[in-house]
Amino acid sequence: MTQKDYYEVLGIADRSASQDDIKKAYRKIALQYHPDRNPDNPDAEERFKEAAEAYDVLGDPEKRKLYDAYGHAGLKGKGVGGFRTAQDVFDTFNDIFGTFFGFSTESRGARGFGPEPGADFRYDLAVSFEQAARGAEIEIEIVRPDVCEDCRGSGAKDGAQPEFVACPVCGGRGQVIRTEGFLRIMNTCSRCAGRGGIIANPCPTCIGEGRIRTNKKIKVKIPPGVDTGSRLRLIGEGESGLRGGRRGDLFVIIHVQPHDFFYRHGNDIYCRVPIAMVQAALGDEIEVPTLDGPKKIKIPAGTQPGEAFKLKGLGVPDLRRTGIGDQIVEVEVQIPKKISEKGRQLLKEFALTEIKDEGIMSKIWKFFESDDSKDSRNKEKQD
Ligand SMILES: [Zn+2]
Ligand SMILES: [Zn+2]
Repeated sequence: MTQKDYYEVLGIADRSASQDDIKKAYRKIALQYHPDRNPDNPDAEERFKEAAEAYDVLGDPEKRKLYDAYGHAGLKGKGVGGFRTAQDVFDTFNDIFGTFFGFSTESRGARGFGPEPGADFRYDLAVSFEQAARGAEIEIEIVRPDVCEDCRGSGAKDGAQPEFVACPVCGGRGQVIRTEGFLRIMNTCSRCAGRGGIIANPCPTCIGEGRIRTNKKIKVKIPPGVDTGSRLRLIGEGESGLRGGRRGDLFVIIHVQPHDFFYRHGNDIYCRVPIAMVQAALGDEIEVPTLDGPKKIKIPAGTQPGEAFKLKGLGVPDLRRTGIGDQIVEVEVQIPKKISEKGRQLLKEFALTEIKDEGIMSKIWKFFESDDSKDSRNKEKQD
Protein backbone atom coordinates (compact mmCIF):
# COMPACT_ATOMS: atom_id res chain seq x y z
CA MET A 1 0.00 0.00 0.00
CA THR A 2 1.43 3.31 -1.08
CA GLN A 3 1.57 6.30 1.21
CA LYS A 4 1.38 8.76 -1.68
CA ASP A 5 -1.63 11.00 -2.08
CA TYR A 6 -4.12 9.21 -4.32
CA TYR A 7 -5.20 12.40 -6.10
CA GLU A 8 -1.59 13.16 -6.91
CA VAL A 9 -1.01 9.64 -8.15
CA LEU A 10 -3.81 10.10 -10.68
CA GLY A 11 -2.71 13.65 -11.50
CA ILE A 12 -5.96 15.16 -10.24
CA ALA A 13 -5.60 18.72 -8.91
CA ASP A 14 -9.25 19.25 -7.99
CA ARG A 15 -10.17 17.13 -4.98
CA SER A 16 -13.85 17.55 -5.81
CA ALA A 17 -13.41 16.00 -9.29
CA SER A 18 -16.37 13.93 -10.52
CA GLN A 19 -16.27 10.12 -10.58
CA ASP A 20 -16.17 10.32 -14.35
CA ASP A 21 -13.11 12.59 -14.29
CA ILE A 22 -11.39 10.20 -11.88
CA LYS A 23 -12.09 7.31 -14.22
CA LYS A 24 -10.70 9.26 -17.19
CA ALA A 25 -7.60 10.25 -15.25
CA TYR A 26 -7.01 6.67 -14.25
CA ARG A 27 -7.39 5.41 -17.80
CA LYS A 28 -4.81 7.91 -18.99
CA ILE A 29 -2.24 6.85 -16.37
CA ALA A 30 -3.02 3.15 -16.84
CA LEU A 31 -2.40 3.42 -20.55
CA GLN A 32 0.82 5.36 -20.01
CA TYR A 33 2.25 2.72 -17.67
CA HIS A 34 0.58 -0.28 -19.22
CA PRO A 35 2.92 -3.29 -19.03
CA ASP A 36 2.41 -4.07 -22.70
CA ARG A 37 3.89 -0.67 -23.49
CA ASN A 38 6.63 -0.88 -20.87
CA PRO A 39 7.95 -4.41 -20.89
CA ASP A 40 10.53 -5.23 -18.21
CA ASN A 41 10.18 -1.84 -16.59
CA PRO A 42 9.72 -2.25 -12.83
CA ASP A 43 9.20 1.48 -12.32
CA ALA A 44 6.35 1.54 -14.81
CA GLU A 45 4.82 -1.50 -13.16
CA GLU A 46 5.02 0.21 -9.80
CA ARG A 47 3.24 3.31 -11.16
CA PHE A 48 0.70 1.07 -12.86
CA LYS A 49 -0.12 -0.67 -9.56
CA GLU A 50 -0.15 2.59 -7.59
CA ALA A 51 -2.59 4.12 -10.05
CA ALA A 52 -4.82 1.07 -9.72
CA GLU A 53 -4.74 1.36 -5.96
CA ALA A 54 -5.61 5.05 -6.16
CA TYR A 55 -8.48 4.30 -8.50
CA ASP A 56 -9.65 1.44 -6.31
CA VAL A 57 -10.16 4.04 -3.58
CA LEU A 58 -11.20 7.21 -5.42
CA GLY A 59 -13.27 5.31 -7.96
CA ASP A 60 -15.42 3.94 -5.13
CA PRO A 61 -17.55 6.72 -3.56
CA GLU A 62 -17.60 4.98 -0.14
CA LYS A 63 -13.86 4.48 0.08
CA ARG A 64 -13.27 7.95 -1.33
CA LYS A 65 -15.33 9.49 1.48
CA LEU A 66 -13.26 7.67 4.09
CA TYR A 67 -10.04 8.69 2.40
CA ASP A 68 -11.12 12.34 2.13
CA ALA A 69 -12.00 12.40 5.84
CA TYR A 70 -9.20 10.34 7.38
CA GLY A 71 -6.52 9.84 4.75
CA HIS A 72 -4.81 6.44 4.42
CA ALA A 73 -5.66 5.65 8.03
CA GLY A 74 -9.35 5.65 7.16
CA LEU A 75 -8.84 2.72 4.77
CA LYS A 76 -7.25 0.28 7.21
CA GLY A 77 -8.95 -3.09 7.00
CA LYS A 78 -10.81 -2.13 3.81
CA GLY A 79 -8.72 -4.39 1.61
CA VAL A 80 -7.05 -1.56 -0.25
CA GLY A 81 -3.75 -2.02 -2.07
CA GLY A 82 -3.78 -5.73 -2.72
CA PHE A 83 -2.17 -5.45 -6.14
CA ARG A 84 0.96 -7.56 -6.02
CA THR A 85 1.25 -7.82 -9.79
CA ALA A 86 -0.04 -6.09 -12.90
CA GLN A 87 -2.22 -9.18 -13.46
CA ASP A 88 -4.06 -8.45 -10.19
CA VAL A 89 -4.90 -5.06 -11.64
CA PHE A 90 -6.33 -6.55 -14.80
CA ASP A 91 -8.33 -9.05 -12.83
CA THR A 92 -9.92 -6.31 -10.75
CA PHE A 93 -10.55 -3.65 -13.37
CA ASN A 94 -11.31 -5.73 -16.40
CA ASP A 95 -14.36 -3.63 -17.25
CA ILE A 96 -12.27 -0.50 -17.58
CA PHE A 97 -9.56 -2.22 -19.55
CA GLY A 98 -12.14 -3.92 -21.67
CA THR A 99 -13.79 -0.75 -22.93
CA PHE A 100 -10.45 0.96 -23.11
CA PHE A 101 -8.69 -1.59 -25.21
CA GLY A 102 -11.51 -2.43 -27.49
CA PHE A 103 -13.02 -5.72 -26.35
CA SER A 104 -16.01 -3.83 -25.13
CA THR A 105 -18.87 -6.20 -25.81
CA GLU A 106 -17.32 -8.92 -23.68
CA SER A 107 -16.57 -6.62 -20.81
CA ARG A 108 -19.73 -5.07 -19.51
CA GLY A 109 -19.09 -6.84 -16.25
CA ALA A 110 -21.47 -9.22 -14.59
CA ARG A 111 -24.86 -9.60 -16.22
CA GLY A 112 -26.67 -10.00 -12.94
CA PHE A 113 -29.98 -11.76 -12.37
CA GLY A 114 -32.57 -9.83 -14.34
CA PRO A 115 -34.95 -11.47 -16.81
CA GLU A 116 -33.18 -13.05 -19.77
CA PRO A 117 -34.85 -13.84 -23.08
CA GLY A 118 -34.57 -17.40 -24.32
CA ALA A 119 -32.45 -18.10 -27.37
CA ASP A 120 -33.94 -18.83 -30.78
CA PHE A 121 -33.74 -22.39 -32.03
CA ARG A 122 -33.01 -23.70 -35.51
CA TYR A 123 -34.32 -26.99 -36.82
CA ASP A 124 -33.45 -28.36 -40.26
CA LEU A 125 -36.41 -30.26 -41.65
CA ALA A 126 -36.27 -32.54 -44.69
CA VAL A 127 -39.58 -32.63 -46.57
CA SER A 128 -40.59 -34.60 -49.64
CA PHE A 129 -41.15 -32.95 -53.00
CA GLU A 130 -44.89 -33.54 -52.64
CA GLN A 131 -45.03 -32.10 -49.10
CA ALA A 132 -43.27 -28.94 -50.26
CA ALA A 133 -45.55 -28.50 -53.25
CA ARG A 134 -48.86 -29.39 -51.64
CA GLY A 135 -48.25 -28.56 -47.95
CA ALA A 136 -48.24 -30.86 -44.96
CA GLU A 137 -48.30 -31.01 -41.20
CA ILE A 138 -45.20 -32.66 -39.79
CA GLU A 139 -44.50 -33.47 -36.18
CA ILE A 140 -40.93 -32.84 -35.10
CA GLU A 141 -39.19 -33.55 -31.82
CA ILE A 142 -36.70 -31.12 -30.38
CA VAL A 143 -34.69 -31.01 -27.18
CA ARG A 144 -34.86 -27.49 -25.80
CA PRO A 145 -34.40 -25.87 -22.42
CA ASP A 146 -37.84 -25.48 -20.85
CA VAL A 147 -38.99 -24.13 -17.53
CA CYS A 148 -37.94 -26.50 -14.72
CA GLU A 149 -41.12 -27.84 -13.19
CA ASP A 150 -39.55 -28.62 -9.81
CA CYS A 151 -38.72 -24.96 -9.07
CA ARG A 152 -41.17 -23.41 -11.53
CA GLY A 153 -38.28 -21.55 -13.13
CA SER A 154 -37.02 -19.77 -10.00
CA GLY A 155 -33.83 -21.85 -9.88
CA ALA A 156 -34.11 -22.13 -6.09
CA LYS A 157 -34.94 -25.27 -4.15
CA ASP A 158 -38.68 -26.06 -4.05
CA GLY A 159 -39.44 -22.91 -6.02
CA ALA A 160 -38.40 -20.62 -3.15
CA GLN A 161 -37.09 -17.10 -3.61
CA PRO A 162 -33.51 -17.51 -4.84
CA GLU A 163 -30.67 -16.16 -2.67
CA PHE A 164 -27.72 -14.92 -4.65
CA VAL A 165 -24.10 -14.99 -3.55
CA ALA A 166 -21.01 -13.81 -5.43
CA CYS A 167 -19.56 -16.40 -7.79
CA PRO A 168 -16.54 -18.07 -6.17
CA VAL A 169 -14.68 -18.40 -9.46
CA CYS A 170 -14.82 -14.88 -10.89
CA GLY A 171 -15.52 -13.08 -7.61
CA GLY A 172 -18.67 -11.52 -8.98
CA ARG A 173 -17.19 -9.98 -12.11
CA GLY A 174 -18.75 -12.46 -14.49
CA GLN A 175 -15.49 -12.60 -16.45
CA VAL A 176 -12.24 -14.44 -16.11
CA ILE A 177 -8.98 -13.39 -17.72
CA ARG A 178 -6.53 -15.70 -19.40
CA THR A 179 -3.08 -14.50 -20.42
CA GLU A 180 -1.59 -15.67 -23.70
CA GLY A 181 1.74 -14.00 -24.43
CA PHE A 182 1.00 -10.30 -24.74
CA LEU A 183 -2.72 -10.85 -24.97
CA ARG A 184 -5.13 -10.78 -22.12
CA ILE A 185 -8.23 -12.62 -23.18
CA MET A 186 -11.44 -12.12 -21.28
CA ASN A 187 -13.87 -14.98 -21.15
CA THR A 188 -17.32 -15.25 -19.71
CA CYS A 189 -17.06 -17.09 -16.41
CA SER A 190 -18.34 -20.59 -16.96
CA ARG A 191 -19.30 -21.18 -13.33
CA CYS A 192 -21.86 -18.36 -13.21
CA ALA A 193 -22.37 -17.94 -16.99
CA GLY A 194 -21.30 -14.31 -16.71
CA ARG A 195 -23.95 -13.40 -14.14
CA GLY A 196 -21.43 -12.70 -11.39
CA GLY A 197 -23.41 -14.61 -8.81
CA ILE A 198 -24.78 -18.04 -8.12
CA ILE A 199 -27.86 -19.24 -6.28
CA ALA A 200 -27.08 -20.24 -2.70
CA ASN A 201 -30.10 -22.55 -2.45
CA PRO A 202 -30.21 -24.10 -5.92
CA CYS A 203 -32.94 -26.40 -7.19
CA PRO A 204 -31.34 -29.87 -7.38
CA THR A 205 -33.10 -30.68 -10.66
CA CYS A 206 -31.87 -27.76 -12.76
CA ILE A 207 -28.88 -26.77 -10.55
CA GLY A 208 -30.15 -23.22 -10.25
CA GLU A 209 -30.65 -22.64 -13.96
CA GLY A 210 -34.45 -22.46 -13.72
CA ARG A 211 -34.81 -24.46 -16.89
CA ILE A 212 -33.87 -27.89 -18.03
CA ARG A 213 -33.46 -29.70 -21.35
CA THR A 214 -36.77 -31.22 -22.28
CA ASN A 215 -37.98 -33.33 -25.18
CA LYS A 216 -40.80 -31.59 -26.93
CA LYS A 217 -42.99 -32.63 -29.84
CA ILE A 218 -44.16 -29.79 -32.07
CA LYS A 219 -46.48 -29.85 -35.07
CA VAL A 220 -45.09 -27.82 -37.94
CA LYS A 221 -47.52 -26.66 -40.60
CA ILE A 222 -45.78 -26.63 -43.97
CA PRO A 223 -47.56 -24.22 -46.31
CA PRO A 224 -47.74 -25.34 -49.96
CA GLY A 225 -45.04 -23.70 -52.06
CA VAL A 226 -42.06 -23.87 -49.69
CA ASP A 227 -38.70 -24.58 -51.23
CA THR A 228 -35.24 -25.46 -49.96
CA GLY A 229 -34.08 -22.58 -47.76
CA SER A 230 -37.61 -21.45 -46.83
CA ARG A 231 -37.68 -20.43 -43.17
CA LEU A 232 -40.75 -20.96 -41.02
CA ARG A 233 -40.87 -19.04 -37.77
CA LEU A 234 -42.75 -20.53 -34.84
CA ILE A 235 -43.04 -17.73 -32.32
CA GLY A 236 -42.36 -18.71 -28.71
CA GLU A 237 -41.29 -22.27 -29.54
CA GLY A 238 -37.56 -21.65 -28.85
CA GLU A 239 -35.71 -21.80 -25.58
CA SER A 240 -37.67 -20.64 -22.53
CA GLY A 241 -36.58 -17.32 -20.99
CA LEU A 242 -35.15 -16.93 -17.51
CA ARG A 243 -36.82 -15.12 -14.62
CA GLY A 244 -39.70 -13.88 -16.69
CA GLY A 245 -37.73 -13.26 -19.91
CA ARG A 246 -39.58 -13.91 -23.15
CA ARG A 247 -39.32 -17.23 -24.95
CA GLY A 248 -37.16 -17.53 -28.05
CA ASP A 249 -38.56 -18.54 -31.43
CA LEU A 250 -38.13 -21.72 -33.41
CA PHE A 251 -36.92 -21.37 -36.98
CA VAL A 252 -37.60 -24.38 -39.18
CA ILE A 253 -35.40 -24.44 -42.27
CA ILE A 254 -36.87 -26.44 -45.13
CA HIS A 255 -34.81 -28.87 -47.21
CA VAL A 256 -36.77 -30.35 -50.11
CA GLN A 257 -35.70 -33.86 -51.08
CA PRO A 258 -35.20 -34.44 -54.81
CA HIS A 259 -37.89 -36.42 -56.61
CA ASP A 260 -37.21 -39.34 -58.92
CA PHE A 261 -39.51 -38.07 -61.62
CA PHE A 262 -40.29 -34.38 -61.07
CA TYR A 263 -38.07 -31.40 -60.71
CA ARG A 264 -38.99 -27.85 -59.98
CA HIS A 265 -38.06 -24.55 -61.51
CA GLY A 266 -39.69 -21.64 -59.75
CA ASN A 267 -43.31 -22.61 -59.36
CA ASP A 268 -43.37 -24.88 -62.39
CA ILE A 269 -42.94 -28.63 -62.14
CA TYR A 270 -41.05 -30.36 -64.95
CA CYS A 271 -40.97 -33.97 -65.98
CA ARG A 272 -39.77 -36.03 -68.94
CA VAL A 273 -42.00 -38.66 -70.48
CA PRO A 274 -40.69 -41.22 -72.94
CA ILE A 275 -42.87 -41.85 -76.00
CA ALA A 276 -42.30 -44.23 -78.90
CA MET A 277 -41.10 -42.96 -82.25
CA VAL A 278 -44.35 -44.06 -83.81
CA GLN A 279 -46.44 -42.24 -81.16
CA ALA A 280 -44.51 -39.07 -81.93
CA ALA A 281 -45.01 -39.50 -85.65
CA LEU A 282 -48.64 -40.54 -85.66
CA GLY A 283 -49.89 -38.81 -82.52
CA ASP A 284 -51.47 -40.41 -79.43
CA GLU A 285 -53.08 -39.76 -76.10
CA ILE A 286 -50.81 -40.59 -73.15
CA GLU A 287 -51.20 -40.65 -69.40
CA VAL A 288 -48.79 -38.48 -67.37
CA PRO A 289 -48.23 -38.62 -63.60
CA THR A 290 -48.90 -35.35 -61.75
CA LEU A 291 -48.94 -34.49 -58.05
CA ASP A 292 -52.73 -34.63 -58.29
CA GLY A 293 -52.89 -38.06 -59.92
CA PRO A 294 -52.50 -39.22 -63.53
CA LYS A 295 -53.68 -36.83 -66.25
CA LYS A 296 -54.14 -37.43 -69.97
CA ILE A 297 -52.47 -35.30 -72.61
CA LYS A 298 -52.77 -35.39 -76.37
CA ILE A 299 -49.59 -35.85 -78.36
CA PRO A 300 -50.22 -34.43 -81.83
CA ALA A 301 -48.90 -36.19 -84.91
CA GLY A 302 -45.43 -34.99 -85.86
CA THR A 303 -44.29 -34.25 -82.30
CA GLN A 304 -40.54 -33.58 -82.17
CA PRO A 305 -38.06 -34.81 -79.50
CA GLY A 306 -37.89 -32.38 -76.56
CA GLU A 307 -41.20 -30.76 -77.39
CA ALA A 308 -43.04 -29.69 -74.23
CA PHE A 309 -46.69 -29.68 -73.26
CA LYS A 310 -48.24 -27.64 -70.49
CA LEU A 311 -50.65 -28.87 -67.87
CA LYS A 312 -52.02 -25.62 -66.58
CA GLY A 313 -52.28 -25.03 -62.83
CA LEU A 314 -50.69 -28.33 -61.84
CA GLY A 315 -47.47 -26.76 -60.58
CA VAL A 316 -46.64 -25.31 -57.18
CA PRO A 317 -48.72 -22.52 -55.62
CA ASP A 318 -46.81 -19.34 -54.93
CA LEU A 319 -45.96 -18.89 -51.23
CA ARG A 320 -47.34 -15.34 -51.37
CA ARG A 321 -50.54 -16.73 -52.90
CA THR A 322 -50.13 -14.81 -56.10
CA GLY A 323 -50.86 -17.75 -58.34
CA ILE A 324 -49.92 -21.29 -59.18
CA GLY A 325 -47.33 -22.76 -61.54
CA ASP A 326 -47.85 -25.27 -64.33
CA GLN A 327 -46.59 -28.75 -65.01
CA ILE A 328 -44.39 -28.90 -68.07
CA VAL A 329 -44.17 -32.29 -69.77
CA GLU A 330 -41.20 -32.79 -72.07
CA VAL A 331 -41.40 -35.76 -74.40
CA GLU A 332 -38.41 -37.96 -75.02
CA VAL A 333 -38.81 -39.74 -78.33
CA GLN A 334 -37.39 -43.23 -78.00
CA ILE A 335 -35.56 -44.65 -81.01
CA PRO A 336 -35.60 -48.45 -80.95
CA LYS A 337 -32.16 -49.92 -80.27
CA LYS A 338 -33.03 -53.36 -81.54
CA ILE A 339 -35.14 -53.93 -84.57
CA SER A 340 -36.36 -57.09 -86.24
CA GLU A 341 -35.59 -57.93 -89.84
CA LYS A 342 -39.17 -57.23 -90.77
CA GLY A 343 -39.10 -53.87 -88.98
CA ARG A 344 -35.88 -53.00 -90.79
CA GLN A 345 -37.44 -53.69 -94.16
CA LEU A 346 -40.49 -51.61 -93.30
CA LEU A 347 -38.39 -48.69 -92.09
CA LYS A 348 -36.22 -48.82 -95.18
CA GLU A 349 -39.26 -48.75 -97.35
CA PHE A 350 -40.61 -45.88 -95.30
CA ALA A 351 -37.37 -43.99 -95.68
CA LEU A 352 -37.25 -44.43 -99.43
CA THR A 353 -40.85 -43.48 -100.01
CA GLU A 354 -41.50 -40.83 -97.34
CA ILE A 355 -38.38 -39.18 -95.95
CA LYS A 356 -36.24 -38.82 -99.07
CA ASP A 357 -38.16 -35.93 -100.51
CA GLU A 358 -38.80 -34.04 -97.31
CA GLY A 359 -37.15 -31.09 -95.58
CA ILE A 360 -33.75 -31.45 -93.94
CA MET A 361 -33.59 -35.17 -94.63
CA SER A 362 -33.79 -34.57 -98.34
CA LYS A 363 -30.75 -32.28 -98.12
CA ILE A 364 -28.79 -34.99 -96.36
CA TRP A 365 -29.71 -37.56 -98.97
CA LYS A 366 -28.65 -35.12 -101.67
CA PHE A 367 -25.38 -34.54 -99.88
CA PHE A 368 -24.51 -38.21 -100.04
CA GLU A 369 -25.42 -38.37 -103.69
CA SER A 370 -23.56 -35.22 -104.76
CA ASP A 371 -19.96 -34.85 -105.84
CA ASP A 372 -19.20 -32.34 -103.07
CA SER A 373 -19.15 -35.08 -100.51
CA LYS A 374 -16.49 -37.02 -102.36
CA ASP A 375 -14.36 -33.89 -102.55
CA SER A 376 -14.62 -33.21 -98.88
CA ARG A 377 -13.80 -36.81 -98.04
CA ASN A 378 -10.66 -36.64 -100.17
CA LYS A 379 -9.71 -33.41 -98.42
CA GLU A 380 -9.93 -35.11 -95.03
CA LYS A 381 -7.55 -37.81 -96.15
CA GLN A 382 -4.95 -35.25 -97.16
CA ASP A 383 -5.16 -33.59 -93.76
ZN1 LIG B 1 -35.34 -26.21 -11.05
ZN1 LIG C 1 -18.39 -16.41 -12.15
